[in-house]
Amino acid sequence: MVSKRKISFSLFLVMAVMFIILILNILMNFRDYGLQSVENKAKAIAQTVKHSLTSHMVNGVIDNRELFLQQITKLENIDNIWLSRAPAVIEQFGIGNNNEVARDSIDEEVLHTGKEKAVIDEKIFGKSSYRITIPYIGSSEGTIDCLSCHTTAKSGDTLGAITISMSVDDIKEVGIITVGNTIVIALVLIIFILIFVNRLISPFLMLFDSINRVMKKAQKGDYSDRIGLTNGKESDSVASWIDSLLEKLQTTLDDIEQKINVFLVHQKTKKEDPLIDVKLTVNRLADIYRFRKTIEHDEYINEVYDRLAYVLKDKFKLSDFNFIEADTTHKNVEIVYVEKEIHCAAQDGCRADRTNTLVDSCQFHDICDKFNHDTNKYYICIPYSISNDLDFIVSIICDTKEENERVRALSPSIQDYIDAAKPEIVSKKLMQILELTARTDPLTGLFNRKYLEESVKTMISQVKRSDIKYGILMVDIDFFKMINDNYGHDVGDQAIKVISQTLIENTRESDTVIRYGGEEFVVLLYNCDENYLFDVSEKIRIAFSKKEIPAGTITFNKTISIGSSIFPLHTDNFWQCLKFADLALYNAKDTGRNKSVIFSPDLIKDSELNEQQY
Ligand code: GH3
Ligand code: MG
Ligand code: MG
Repeated sequence: MVSKRKISFSLFLVMAVMFIILILNILMNFRDYGLQSVENKAKAIAQTVKHSLTSHMVNGVIDNRELFLQQITKLENIDNIWLSRAPAVIEQFGIGNNNEVARDSIDEEVLHTGKEKAVIDEKIFGKSSYRITIPYIGSSEGTIDCLSCHTTAKSGDTLGAITISMSVDDIKEVGIITVGNTIVIALVLIIFILIFVNRLISPFLMLFDSINRVMKKAQKGDYSDRIGLTNGKESDSVASWIDSLLEKLQTTLDDIEQKINVFLVHQKTKKEDPLIDVKLTVNRLADIYRFRKTIEHDEYINEVYDRLAYVLKDKFKLSDFNFIEADTTHKNVEIVYVEKEIHCAAQDGCRADRTNTLVDSCQFHDICDKFNHDTNKYYICIPYSISNDLDFIVSIICDTKEENERVRALSPSIQDYIDAAKPEIVSKKLMQILELTARTDPLTGLFNRKYLEESVKTMISQVKRSDIKYGILMVDIDFFKMINDNYGHDVGDQAIKVISQTLIENTRESDTVIRYGGEEFVVLLYNCDENYLFDVSEKIRIAFSKKEIPAGTITFNKTISIGSSIFPLHTDNFWQCLKFADLALYNAKDTGRNKSVIFSPDLIKDSELNEQQY
């Protein structure tokens, strides 16, 4: 417990300083008091000696003063006493038997100035002494007139001085003992105070240290540590509040984590702080939830892909990627969304789909032979299984290896969004298939009349926006009824398949072939003029006439008649233009069959019946 040691040491230091000041104060006072007593004692002796010497003089026994001075010297602590006469006195009476002259400079100074002087000789180890020199001043006043004898002196002159040297060792000794006792008492007191304070603050310090430890761990995301007992009633209750709070926090976080795992399969493995993790995960969940709610209201699968692409661009900062759909049942792979550009020929086979594993060009640069490696770009293709017969591949293209690494780390988060979109992709794909089925003829796989009705709107707006013209072909098999009658309905169906195949073989990808009714077909030729219209018609007619239609063990040939018109050249009303093609077909039938006829306004005049209809 660092804090406990710190507090104890600080407390000890404060108390020690206080006691040192106290002891020094005692010491100084004791010294002053001792010196004062010595001074008083010296002065009392000096006065006594002065009066006694005066008495000796008055009584005429001044010569016996030596005995007196010896007796005084025997008094306790008196080391030495001597007298010194002023020069005027020496001049009048001489230096006396005891050679009473100034013994040192202090004597001389006092005799000269008439002012007393004290000197202390203090030694910690060894003898200490106090010396005082007091002047005797001559006076004619009072009971005894000094000047009556000292005739050469006047009042106020210094007649002599007495020096008393005294030992102060006993005072020093008492002082040392007193200070020693005080130090012992102080030490005992400090120890008692320290023990008492220690007992009092120990639980709180223990609590503080434990809080410090537990909070440091909590700061790093580890909420498992507890404070425990602190040996104090109040501190224990604080500890138990904090512990129960931590317990609640930990169990709540664990609980949230478990619950979240149900929604997010792809957890990030790196755990720093569970609290921050939970916050980030809840944010992720909220984003994914918002994404799911939004795509629920989207009508078509393309809108879902657009939304997913927006997430990749906005959230994951990707700028070059493709979405690929792989129909596992029909082995059909198609690029369904392109952001920036197409980098691979996925329609010829997708490695990520085939292997059902992530394809990363960082492992082997030319890992996928369908990728256009001329660009020197990095790619990472992640397959996601949407349903039993639909895989979804996100192909992300990166300029650098570092970006590629970043994308790999992002793949679990991308999967969260794809998982969220799964039900919508499946349902919208199903809807797309249903819609396609509703617009497709089951016998030939061609579009049906419903499709034509729906796509006309787009075609009209395209025609209005540009100079594009559409050629309309109305194709009908000649004497088809005879096939049914002669060979049966199945052979009739076979003939229908042959003509549809012929139509596909002889038109471009941009053209549209529609089974309009029984054995009647409409072909929309994109960007078409009159010459091209006739050429294609004839090409189809001749090609079909050469086709062998199987009927059991034999085959036979049939012909077709084709009527055509150009939209919007002949009329800017599409349905009317279709009727014009039909009119041309009628004319072809009427004029011998197995021929191509392009609409001309004369055909309307020729047919009164048709004229009535239009
Ligand atoms: P025309 O040269 O004047 O066109 O003579 P046609 O015999 O072909 O006459 P039409 O075009 O009116 O014949 C349509 C016949 O096609 C009527 C119907 O029985 C037959 N049919 C319609 N749909 C199918 C089909 O899906 N399969 C079969 N086998 N026959 C069909
Ligand atoms: Mg027919
Ligand atoms: Mg017909």
